[in-house]
Amino acid sequence: MKIQTACVHAGYTPAPGEPRILPIAQSTTYLYNDFDDVAALFDLKKEGHMYSRISNPTVESLECKIAALEGGIAAVAVSSGQSATLLSVLTICESGDHIVSLNNLYGGTHTLLGSTLKKYGIETTFIPFDADEETIRAAIRPQTKLLFSETLGNPGLEVLDIEKMSSIAHEHGLPLFVDNTLATPALCRPFEFGADIVVHSATKYLDGHATSLGGVIVDSGTFDWTGGKYPQLTEPDPNYHGLSFTESFGPKAYATRARAVFLRDMGNVLSPFNAFLINLGTETLALRMERHSQNAWTIAKYLSEHPKIEWVRYPSLPGSAQEKLAAKYLPEGASGVVTFGVAGGEQECKALINALRLASLVVHVGDVRTHILHPASTTHRQLSAQEQLLSGITPNLVRLSVGIEDSQEIIEDLDQALRRI
Ligand code: PLP
Repeated sequence: MKIQTACVHAGYTPAPGEPRILPIAQSTTYLYNDFDDVAALFDLKKEGHMYSRISNPTVESLECKIAALEGGIAAVAVSSGQSATLLSVLTICESGDHIVSLNNLYGGTHTLLGSTLKKYGIETTFIPFDADEETIRAAIRPQTKLLFSETLGNPGLEVLDIEKMSSIAHEHGLPLFVDNTLATPALCRPFEFGADIVVHSATKYLDGHATSLGGVIVDSGTFDWTGGKYPQLTEPDPNYHGLSFTESFGPKAYATRARAVFLRDMGNVLSPFNAFLINLGTETLALRMERHSQNAWTIAKYLSEHPKIEWVRYPSLPGSAQEKLAAKYLPEGASGVVTFGVAGGEQECKALINALRLASLVVHVGDVRTHILHPASTTHRQLSAQEQLLSGITPNLVRLSVGIEDSQEIIEDLDQALRRI
């Protein structure tokens, strides 16, 4: 299926007489008639739903849809994007392990990797998003378990050179994890360029209507975990009677462990109702990303010609430092987020944001409505001034998440607000 068709149809194929639209399985439990059948489920010897903390039919349909869209072998849906990143890391990292990450991350991911996980013994070295190959290689240690980055940095909008990062990762026997939230599989499929694991905040463009928190981990199924670096996947797991995930589940070893160990133990599940809403949103993903990208391009162009705007960042804007990478990795459109620097500083940003009428001040991206935010005082507030600058967050940076409204009306709104500062 092409991406437009898969958005609508993948993940759920009803049999005759069943609901045409994905039903909400609002049930914690599943009925079995045979004692041994349930025991086999608990030993992971049989596939099936046993309890909704581990899997659920509505959630499973969404998982299958996102796996199909990304070109992966399996997906695990969880309660938020933060949960997706956390579980993706914990599936192969323990105390004493190390991560190399580009530093242009969503603020919450930066604090998760750099601060929270550090307290539990998992250390991350952050390197500049434009680091050369030698710098990336030099950051890798014997304890390094994965390389992490975002396809399209939030909010800096730097385009990841996925092929470069994945080839460095693979040279060292490591997987590349990519947060594909801002690009979405409608615009970029990181597995096609060598990434191994994709994570999503489904809260953003997948849902698309700002109704539901959710996250997804997608396994490409192509990384070889058996070299000795990942005993969690290869060695016998005493909690499953000595089962080895790689031996029992082959290419699905990683996704199976994420679910069977971490969803089971931590319980950060996606509710069936949120899965239903995110699935509904994803049905129009390809259509929306086309419009988000067109609108964002038009608004980026308008802002780039405005005297009160110091600079504009949108990956495919002519002359953008990211233009070449955007042409390679985002040929169908560069998504809906535009960042720009208001001439002046925080006070001018405040005046602009307070004067807007159509665009709303909301801590969110990826909604059908246009949203605006000042990251330095909100999402990246917990970082020090120096960490903010290293992550590309200047005091005059404003992030606009361009919706699917009429682009001229968004421009008129920005225009009247800019006239007031
Ligand atoms: N990754 C990116 C790129 C994000 O923008 C966000 C949230 O803004 C997250 C992860 C975290 O997602 P959630 O808010 O669903 O936990």
